[in-house]
Amino acid sequence: MRKQLKQQIERLKAQRATYIDVRWYPYEETNQYLIWNGNLKTTAAARESGIGVRVLYQGAWGFSASSDLSNLSPIFDQAFENARVAAQRVTFPVRLAEKDSIQAQFNTPVQISPFDISLETKVAFLTDIDTKLNQTNVAQRICGLDFVRKQIIFLDSDGSEIEKNIQDVFSSMAVTGLDEEGNMHDRTFNLPRIGSSRGWESIDPILFHENADRIVKEMNQMLTAKQCPQDNRSVILLPGIMYLQTHETIGHALELDRILGYELAYAGGSFVTLEDFGSLRYGSEKLTVRADATLPNSPGSFGYDDDGIEAQNNLLIDKGILVGAITGRQMVEEANAKAKREIFSASSGANRATSFYRVPIERMTNINIDSGSDGTLEDIIKNTEKGIVLDGDRSWSIGSNREQFHFGTEMGWLVEDGQITDVVKNATYQGATVDFWNSLTAVGDQSTWQVHFVDNCGKGQPNQVMQLGHGIPVCRFDNVRIGE
Ligand SMILES: [Zn+2]
Repeated sequence: MRKQLKQQIERLKAQRATYIDVRWYPYEETNQYLIWNGNLKTTAAARESGIGVRVLYQGAWGFSASSDLSNLSPIFDQAFENARVAAQRVTFPVRLAEKDSIQAQFNTPVQISPFDISLETKVAFLTDIDTKLNQTNVAQRICGLDFVRKQIIFLDSDGSEIEKNIQDVFSSMAVTGLDEEGNMHDRTFNLPRIGSSRGWESIDPILFHENADRIVKEMNQMLTAKQCPQDNRSVILLPGIMYLQTHETIGHALELDRILGYELAYAGGSFVTLEDFGSLRYGSEKLTVRADATLPNSPGSFGYDDDGIEAQNNLLIDKGILVGAITGRQMVEEANAKAKREIFSASSGANRATSFYRVPIERMTNINIDSGSDGTLEDIIKNTEKGIVLDGDRSWSIGSNREQFHFGTEMGWLVEDGQITDVVKNATYQGATVDFWNSLTAVGDQSTWQVHFVDNCGKGQPNQVMQLGHGIPVCRFDNVRIGE
């Protein structure tokens, strides 16, 4: 098959196509299991395979995909034909940043493949956790397992040949209770990155048991908690909400295609402009953010992107100053041309497609915040006069250009004079993105740093769901509006 694909690439090259690449998925498999109040609600398995072909011709892309690989020529011809038609209409001819020809392989670190585990074992795990969650006041309990494995062979007209074998594991459990007024309160646990591999071995029953007791206890605290106050104070964000803050107001805002206006019709744009790179004070000096696709064991680490660029660890915000973006080969050239200066020297290796039948677009890798020097969570609380500790995402609303946000959290713990006093319900906080990140006054040390996975990031038309990670510490922001 690889030989046939290479022959097709050579055939289009001879017809003066500028660049050709093909992603061949021999297989992509997903398994999903969900238990809901003791009932096995979902056991789903899916499998697909096929190829996606991109052809660049006279500054325009053509794309074609098929799961029928019995006759390859029409798929390649269709992609070329689409490029020819598009070339007559293109307003900004595509140029691709330089890249090396790469022969490589990437394998996700996995000890035990979840696909080798029996259905009985998986259901027994879920039943065990469900039984554990079945405690006083728990009106609803949900526990799920999600597994993905895929092989991707990437070939291009520059001679690259990259094989990727990727596996991902996602798991979560959640409980819901009703307070006196009948309002629902959820408490959720999402499996964070633990250890150095992501196979079945990361589904640790002891970890789930410990956290099951914790989330039920915290949910029960919510049911009798008083209302979150409305005032301005310090907010201390735990990783369970800090990941979403980072995702929505840094990650999405720094996707270069969005900055250039390509997502306006769907998921919105970005307040960031090309002039901002190198000068915008995005946050306080305590804020250093990187797109790190080299982080071991995360769905945002994939070895090589779908442009065939090796995974990188790039600074996005350096001590508060905006210095980088989430980029692919095409957008860096367009951005440099439109800015009339070289902002980006090369692609940052973040162009990814959700499947063989979608084109790659700029996606977050692992958008991480460096841990800081303000100690443990306990230290930060001790050094806070009037604040609130927040955790768990409950609701989110983001400005269409990511310029403001409003988040509701599952949990809120008030802090007065360095001590936690009360638990409060319906906690919310809001802000203007740049002002908020500039009010960052404490960043926790490595003991507070966790990697949270996102398995459902949506972008693009047609929609592409993508998986990634966020490595984040506990952070404190001052003078934030809460409770509205
Ligand atoms: Zn997203």
